[in-house]
Amino acid sequence: MDVNESGASVRSIVENMRLCLLALLVTLPLPAADLAKEGDRWWSHIQVLADDNMEGRNAGSPGHLRAAQFVAGEFERAGLKPAGTHGYLQPVKFKVAQIVEDQSSLALVSTDGKVTPLKLGEDANLSVRPGLAEHIQAEAVFCGYGLAIPENHFDDFAGACGAADLKGKIVVYLAGGPSDIPGNLRSHYSSRAERWKAIAKTGAIGVVAIANPKSMDIPWERSTLARLNATMALADARMADAPGQQFGANVNPAHADKFLAASGHTFAELLALADQGKPLPRFPLHIRLRATEHMRLSEAESQNVVGLLPGSDPVLKNEYVAFGAHLDHLGVGAPIRGDAIYNGAMDDGSGIASLIEIATMAKLENLHPRRSILFIAVTGEEKGLLGSQYFTGAPTVPLKNIVADVNMDMYLPLYPLKYLEVQGLEESSLGADIRAVCEKAGVTVQPDREPQRNLFIRSDQYNYIKHGVPALTFKFGYDTGSPEEKLAKDWLRERYHAPSDDLNQPVDRPAAARFNRLMLDLGMRVADASGRPSWNSDSFFKRFQR
Ligand SMILES: [Zn+2]
Repeated sequence: MDVNESGASVRSIVENMRLCLLALLVTLPLPAADLAKEGDRWWSHIQVLADDNMEGRNAGSPGHLRAAQFVAGEFERAGLKPAGTHGYLQPVKFKVAQIVEDQSSLALVSTDGKVTPLKLGEDANLSVRPGLAEHIQAEAVFCGYGLAIPENHFDDFAGACGAADLKGKIVVYLAGGPSDIPGNLRSHYSSRAERWKAIAKTGAIGVVAIANPKSMDIPWERSTLARLNATMALADARMADAPGQQFGANVNPAHADKFLAASGHTFAELLALADQGKPLPRFPLHIRLRATEHMRLSEAESQNVVGLLPGSDPVLKNEYVAFGAHLDHLGVGAPIRGDAIYNGAMDDGSGIASLIEIATMAKLENLHPRRSILFIAVTGEEKGLLGSQYFTGAPTVPLKNIVADVNMDMYLPLYPLKYLEVQGLEESSLGADIRAVCEKAGVTVQPDREPQRNLFIRSDQYNYIKHGVPALTFKFGYDTGSPEEKLAKDWLRERYHAPSDDLNQPVDRPAAARFNRLMLDLGMRVADASGRPSWNSDSFFKRFQR
């Protein structure tokens, strides 16, 4: 071979390689995402949101305002248009209440007038909300699960409750519900608003919940620490969710027998029935509850943050796919192991960081969805889904044009994303969308595996659902008995709503990045579809459709 020949052959080899590479580029899908890099970028947002200087992002606090301004800045950087009422921000006004515990009390009064004082924080805690009465004294009646579910002809208040007239009385119930009633249906009627609607019809004035220790996310010893925190309600009177309620309390399940003693029933007996899926009895407790509650009342303002990626289709751009997450967390509270800042890195710094990431990826990849995509960071979730209630009550785009809500709240990327647990999977056409997107990504979809935890109504998607908007929300899934199950459960027990949900915890960042890509694909698929999502014909939630 001479120099020329060999030179030519080298050239042709190079040329062939170039053609091969070109062919590869044409036939291969987009280069695989750099999940490590994207995961680090996602985490960098959380490092800002869950920094101690954000002071736990309590709704109404300066820390939350700083976090809202950070999110607005990131939305702007990602090319989103402002879609609040004041630029990216939508201010929300609140009424605030905080118990003055040393001027408050709760006691049991027997039929012969004997008074047994209870210890607040240990035996029971009073609900704290503007509008509750300062003094009450009323008879207590145990009404099973305290539920009325017309679809299943289930009614704990029938007749009225254990033959007791409930007018002027207090309903005591065991949290949970009959296991033969579908989870989403039970969840809906277990919400404070729905439960109170049913109770108010009986003429009862208050309600006392006893948790089932089996389904408590947070042990009493830890949850009781939050009783001194300020609580909030929307200042807008049209949005009150339990009008007429005068009294509320939660009982420590370990002390529940104090309430039951005069009735001849025991808590163990009730729990055994609940465990076996048997109906719970209803009976008068033969006690009166006497309570005095002193609350310090004030007002506050907090912020929703809303950004818009305008759609590219001249008609469909007037419809919106909403991505949501909550910006607020619990603020500064009772210290646990010397740490008083409840940073909320996963709850829900993770979801807010995902909002920013999805918007950022859409910009970097120059995506132009046909429908518009809304990015909504809400306040007041921890106070009872209040920011999303306000947004859906006073929306900044026509609510009927929001076609779907994809909510990302504490989805717990603690290990690789093999399974995605989807709440709302069987309720709307979004179920098929998430299945398709997951299948493409090699992720297995799991239905809600713990319907008794009521997750479908425990985050912001529920306010959209109540306005007829199909919605989904997610958790990282796992195999029963796997190390991943242990990680998820340990996390709930030890870090959920604790100061240790902070920046010093093991998180699988590439797995979170994979989740963000799934969400982006889901959003694009729904935004580009010719028709808008619809409720399944057999879904309970279809009734809310306008
Ligand atoms: Zn939370």
